[in-house]
Amino acid sequence: MRVPVIAGNWKMNTTVSEAIKLVNEMCAQLDKITSVDKIICPPFTSLAPVRELIKGSSIKLGAQNLYFEEKGAYTGEISPVMLADLCEFVIIGHSERRQYFNETGEIVNKKIQAALGVGLKPILCIGERLEENEAGRTEEVVTEQLCSSLTGINYPRGWLVAYEPVWAIGTGKAATGKQANETIGFIRHNIAKLYGKEITQDLRILYGGSVTAENATEFMNQPEIDGALVGGASLKADQFLSIVKQTSEIKGRLSRK
Ligand code: PEP
Repeated sequence: MRVPVIAGNWKMNTTVSEAIKLVNEMCAQLDKITSVDKIICPPFTSLAPVRELIKGSSIKLGAQNLYFEEKGAYTGEISPVMLADLCEFVIIGHSERRQYFNETGEIVNKKIQAALGVGLKPILCIGERLEENEAGRTEEVVTEQLCSSLTGINYPRGWLVAYEPVWAIGTGKAATGKQANETIGFIRHNIAKLYGKEITQDLRILYGGSVTAENATEFMNQPEIDGALVGGASLKADQFLSIVKQTSEIKGRLSRK
C-alpha cells in the first residue's frame, strides 16, 4: 500500500504574514493525520518562515520551481542548492510554467537533474491541454512529456508525479475520478516500461485540477490515484484539512478491504 500524499501548491499567493497565518490555522491539525503525507509549497519568499513554523511536525515543505544552474549571473533565479537548504520537494514542469514561461521538455529534464543532484525530490507535473484531450491525444501527450522529462535520468527515488489535465487547473472543471484513474494507470504503466515494474511499485501518482473538499472523495476512491496536488483549495485551511482528512479515511478503508 502506497502512503497517500496531499500537496498544496500555493502558486503566487500569500505575503509572508499571510503564509504564517495560513500555516498557523492548519499546522496542529494537519500534523495529527499521520497516515497521509502532507506537503505545502508556498512561494519562495515564505519558505524560510514556513520552515520554522512546521519544524518538528509531520508536514513537509516544497518549492514551486527552481533554475537548473547551481549559481552565477542568472538574475532573479533560485538555484537547487539554495532550495536544498530549505525544503525536501520541488514542483517541476507545472503547466503554468510550460504555458507562461515557455518551459519545454528539455528544460524540465534539466531541472529534474538539477533537483536530484542536490537531493531534492521532484514533483513532476504532466497533463494534456483541452484541444489535445478533445482530439483523443491524452495518452500520446503524457507519454511525450514523460519521455522528454526523464531522458537520461536514472529512476528518481522519492519523486512524485502529478497528472494535471491543463483544462482542469484553476478552472473549477475537474476531470472525473474515472478519467483521472485511467490516465494515471496509463502513466504508471509507461513509467514501469521505462524503469521496470518493481521499482515503480512505490511511485505515488497524484491527480491535480480543481480538487476541493467537495469532490476529493471521488478521486481518493480510485485505486490508481495516490493523492492530490491542490491549488486554489490549498489556500483555505479548512478545505485543505478536509481533503487530507477525507484522504486518510478513504485510503485507510481501501487498504483494509
Ligand atoms: C495546481 O496548481 O497544480 C492545481 C491543480 O490548481 P487548482 O487546484 O487550483 O486547479
